[in-house]
Order: sequence, then structure tokens, then C-alpha cells
Amino acid sequence: MIQKRTIGIIGTGKVGMAAAYTLFCRDVASDIILVDKDERRAEGEAMDLMHGQTLAEPVSVRAGSYASLGAAQVIVVAAGTGRKEGESRLDLLNRNVAIFREIVAELDRYAPHAILVIATNPVDIITYVVQQLSRRPHSQIIGTGTMLDTARFRALLGQFYGVDPRSVDAGIFGEHGDSEVPIWSRASIGGMRLVDGTVLGKRFDRGAMDALFEQVRYAGREVIARKGFTSSAIGLVIAELVETILDDQHTVLTVGVQFEGEYGIRDVCLSIPCVVGHLGVEGRILPELSEEEMAAMQHSADVLKESIGAIAIG
Ligand code: NAD
Repeated sequence: MIQKRTIGIIGTGKVGMAAAYTLFCRDVASDIILVDKDERRAEGEAMDLMHGQTLAEPVSVRAGSYASLGAAQVIVVAAGTGRKEGESRLDLLNRNVAIFREIVAELDRYAPHAILVIATNPVDIITYVVQQLSRRPHSQIIGTGTMLDTARFRALLGQFYGVDPRSVDAGIFGEHGDSEVPIWSRASIGGMRLVDGTVLGKRFDRGAMDALFEQVRYAGREVIARKGFTSSAIGLVIAELVETILDDQHTVLTVGVQFEGEYGIRDVCLSIPCVVGHLGVEGRILPELSEEEMAAMQHSADVLKESIGAIAIG
């Protein structure tokens, strides 16, 4: 019997649809089910994609409800809500927690075995909240975390050294946000560590590299300042993560997971390189970090714990 590959997407806004479009073009799934609290919007998006079916792959896209997600192997959560006038960041966070309480209850009821891919911001806190609220194992709840930041980092390093970014082995760990941590001590090209000296004729210059990292750290802000939101690259990130899971690839990706003592940190979601397959996060990789990087990871954890401590999850 042919195994159907079904993906659910909760939240058919700019991010959810960038992911849906990428998945549609890549022939990753046989079925994509779009769920949004604005049902007509989800219907319109499904119709729009289906009108391109003869030009892409034979994928069935339809709007649905949580009850139609029973066959989904992977469900992307990109439902979001903006800050209301006069609302504090914390109020918004608490409102998001309330929204996610409902979403998680529905997902646990109708799709208890699906792997959840969380993209909604602040993604590390929302991933942690879902970890606390859902009955599924932690390994089946994956935050997109710093996968996008890592992609941006490798792209800029690739440009700097004049190589394909896929040949740059480098990562951003920690928070997807201001406290994120560039792991310089492990960054390499062709097995040569960048910090060790001259690679491809370019000497490791800490000042230049700090400036490059600043571009990564504030990349989202710069895009938003120009086009108002980010969507294309995060859509590719989500599609890559979903494909990795469905294909059981065991690819190492820098994604958000709940820490259970890694680097002495627990009870918070941060990103580290993880082996991703059809069971979700199947392995975690903990490279030795420099003292400076260890301190930065701890700082990332502290920043997130402060926010977590201020919201009512239970
Ligand atoms: P958007 O406003 O375009 O879309 C959000 C969608 O969610 C809307 O269609 C809305 O109707 C829907 N929605 C809201 N509440 C819902 C609910 N309870 N159930 C179902 N659907 C619901 O927003 P966007 O630009 O697509 O961004 C979505 C989220 O992704 C935001 O939180 C944003 O910050 C985040 N994001 C994350 C990353 C990342 O790297 N993780 C990158 C970019 C954006």
C-alpha cells in the first residue's frame, strides 16, 4: 500500500504559506492540510495553490479543521498574533500562551502522534510552552530555533570566504534572538578551523567576524524594516525540516529542543545541533565550547528563563 505523506499547517499567514508553497513545489507530501482560525483565508490559500497543480507536483492542498489532521505525520505551527495597541510584550506573550493552550489541546486530541514543528515567535518560549502543555514526548516537538540564523551565518561566511555556504560548517546556538551564540571555536571550511589562522587566503579577524555576526543577529530586523515581515527564508527552513522528518534523513540541524542538562542547562528551550529523523529529534550533539561560548549559552538560557518565569503556563 502506498503510504500517504500528510502535512498539516496551522496558521496560513505569510510564514505558514511560504512553507506551504515551498513544500508544494518540492514534492515533499501527497497532502497538505491548511488550518487557520480564519477559515476563509485557509480556503482561499488552498484554492490558490491548487490552481497551480498542473505546473507543480501532484499534491492535494485543502483547508481543514483540527479534526482533519488525524493522518498528518508532521504539523507546522505558524499561527501568530501581533501586539495590540498599548499591549506590553509580556501581555502579548500571555495571550499567545492562552492561544497555544487551545491549539495544543486540539492537536493532542486529533493528532497525538504527529511531530510538531513550531515556528511562532518568540519561538524558544513557545516551543517550551508547547513542551509543557502537550502530552507527546519532548522529542516530537521541534522549534525552528536558530536554523534560520545558522543558514544566514553560513551564507555570509560563504560569501566572505568565496565558497558555497553548504561547504561552511558553522552554527548559531542558543536563543533565536538577541542573545544567540555564534560558535566560532567550531566553525570550519574543508576541515580547517577558521579561528586557527588563514583559510583560503583570509586571516581570522575578530573585528570583521564580529561585524559579520552582527549582520546575522539583526538580519530579521533589517528585512522587516524593508518589507515589513520575513517569510521566504523561514519558509525554506520549515520545508527543509519537514522533509528531513518525512524522509527520515537523520540530518544534523540546529533546532530548538528542551534542554535536559546539556551544558549544565535545563528547563528551557534552546538550539543545538540535533539529529532529525521520522521520530523527531533522535540525537543531540554537544561540541566542546570555549569558555566565552559557554558563558554566552548560559546567558541565553537566563534571558529565556526570565521570560518563562513571568508567564503563566500551567
Ligand atoms: P501572519 O499574521 O501573516 O499570520 C498569522 C496567521 O495565524 C493568520 O492567518 C491568523 O489568522 C492565524 N492565527 C492566529 N491565531 C490562530 C489560531 N488560534 N489558530 C489558527 N490560526 C491562527 O503572521 P506571519 O508573518 O505568518 O508570522 C507567523 C509567526 O511566525 C509569528 O509569530 C512570527 O513572529 C513568526 N516567525 C518566526 C520566524 C522564525 O524564525 N521562527 C521567522 C519569521 C516569523
